[in-house]
Amino acid sequence: MQKVIFTDIDGTLLESRFPDFNKMKNLVQKTTQNGIHLILCSSKTQVEQNKIKSNLELHEPYIVENGGATIVPKDYFKKTEFTYSKALRDNYIIETGAPAYKIRSLLKKMRSKHKLNFEGVSDISPLELSHIINQPQDYAKRMIKRKYSETIIRIDNNDIPKFVSIIEKLGLKMIPGGQYFDITLGNDKGTGVKIIIDIFRREYENEVIFFGIGDSKNDESMLSLMDLPILVQKPNGSWENLQIDNLRKVEGIGPDGWEIALDLILKY
Ligand SMILES: [Mg+2]
Repeated sequence: MQKVIFTDIDGTLLESRFPDFNKMKNLVQKTTQNGIHLILCSSKTQVEQNKIKSNLELHEPYIVENGGATIVPKDYFKKTEFTYSKALRDNYIIETGAPAYKIRSLLKKMRSKHKLNFEGVSDISPLELSHIINQPQDYAKRMIKRKYSETIIRIDNNDIPKFVSIIEKLGLKMIPGGQYFDITLGNDKGTGVKIIIDIFRREYENEVIFFGIGDSKNDESMLSLMDLPILVQKPNGSWENLQIDNLRKVEGIGPDGWEIALDLILKY
């Protein structure tokens, strides 16, 4: 039986405020050394995840921008054929999100038409963004490189209810993150997860069991597709309120919870 873990990154595999890259690397190594497949599934962009993955030596499919695209190394699945949008260097890219320019142009129109005051990462310079998020400029640049979504970085709190009702009418989807939120044209993490699950099932003739690890609302669409969905604690010790029947809540914040989850999975 093959075991596959889908995992969120921020607040789950990596502490958002005090990221411990060594801890993440140890967890990832323990996972792959035990023959478990590990799929990163995050709102982060491809370049952000590539930066993280290069330190982890992780040769696995991954899902970027909340299901905007699913990236599969060409040599990963040996016998299963699947459709993809692009074949670039060593990867197949399955695009399920709309191009970012389309989303940005819809946002721009609603900003002027409805006199809403908000800013996305593409509206400001990398320098300005680096100040807002308190990260170096190269980090901000990777965050801006969105291909299938837009991150709203500033919005007047009073405008949020109106903003949400308008974007829904336009077919856009608001995906809450830790501090900010993303706008997609309908895709969420579950969009990419479904694609990967289908390929694994065909590759291993259904001899696969799926585990998911997350910490917040944007993981709900991913976790709801799992055989064993696992939720880690937030920094204040609480668990996100998710509507999933067999959800397993582990006592541990972020990566500490991940470690407990991995022990559960190894014994499963
Ligand atoms: Mg998270």
